Amino acid sequence: MFKTKVTEMLHIEYPIIQGGMQWIARAELVSAVSNAGALGILSALTFPSPEELAAEIRKTKELTNKPFGVNLSFLPTLRPANYDAYIDVILQEGVKIVETAGRSPEPYMERLKAAGIKVIHKCTAVRFARTAQRIGCDIVSIDGFECAGHPGEEDVTSLILIPRTVDSLDIPVIASGGFGDGRGLVAALALGASGVNMGTRFLASQEAPIHTQVKEWLVKSSERDTMLVMSSLRNTERVLRNAVAEKVSGMEKQGATLEELAPLLSGEKGLEVLKTGELDRGLVSCGQVVGLIQYIPTVKQLVEDIVHEAEEVMSRFSRKTVFQPLRKPS
Ligand code: NAD
Repeated sequence: MFKTKVTEMLHIEYPIIQGGMQWIARAELVSAVSNAGALGILSALTFPSPEELAAEIRKTKELTNKPFGVNLSFLPTLRPANYDAYIDVILQEGVKIVETAGRSPEPYMERLKAAGIKVIHKCTAVRFARTAQRIGCDIVSIDGFECAGHPGEEDVTSLILIPRTVDSLDIPVIASGGFGDGRGLVAALALGASGVNMGTRFLASQEAPIHTQVKEWLVKSSERDTMLVMSSLRNTERVLRNAVAEKVSGMEKQGATLEELAPLLSGEKGLEVLKTGELDRGLVSCGQVVGLIQYIPTVKQLVEDIVHEAEEVMSRFSRKTVFQPLRKPS
């Protein structure tokens, strides 16, 4: 029922893509997502060296025979990465799908395309999406203002950004930012997207390799429990609202520099939150879709629930002349 250009191009059953989340998108979660018929994506920079990424790719291949991808983030980082060395590993291990983000992947396109890799470029504005198409990307994943992590600097929400991007491109578009259930999947398809990207929703799954207390926080929280930091660095990030995020925001208002903020921003500190469940240790990316998360299923259950709910919404559309919204118990 949900065959799209993206499911055909990536050889997956459902048009659901798991975002390449730093520290979280490891073999365990990625293989579970792919085994469920969606697309799992490993996060390359989670692994401090290309050799460790190679080992994780091999581990993922042992856990699934379905397609999976690798995410390469070119956003600024406190620990500069040798991208060519990571790409060497991606090519050597025969990975067939790469998701790039943060900056144009143009310098690496020749190598990726020569290896027959499908390149999904995740970006935050129509003009970046057009560039991605021009340089030969196969798919654009467009990230609305609701998203976890880096929504760009223009504050355009998914409801506008998705159809604007679809109307501006010939290649397929994945809708990212604000998606976490079947209603959202149908809405994305209605806006012209060929699939959804979900990060935060997969965080609250049994297989996500994070402390239970963080998952429970996701269930308890509302759509008001995220906030934006790092706008002063022109590298805005949406994170879960905690003491560190409030402190960073306060320091930014006082004109703090990157050097002053760096100890608080560090991804290593965010990793401590995920490992210990102590929420105030660092920054953790989190999308506004957290307000829709009500339970912690297995990945398989989650994907099935999303697909069933989407089918139910579609059948309501086709059966009723007066559309009845699908309401969930709160
Ligand atoms: P890190 O510890 O290297 O940096 C911490 C934060 O500071 C990151 O958000 C980074 O972008 C930012 N930063 C670093 N140097 C900067 C500079 N010169 N100017 C402005 N901002 C700067 O990051 P990490 O947590 O180890 O993550 C590794 C990479 O993956 C980072 O580039 C991060 O942004 C990216 N990432 C992206 C997403 C997403 O968009 N969904 C999620 C997680 C991580």
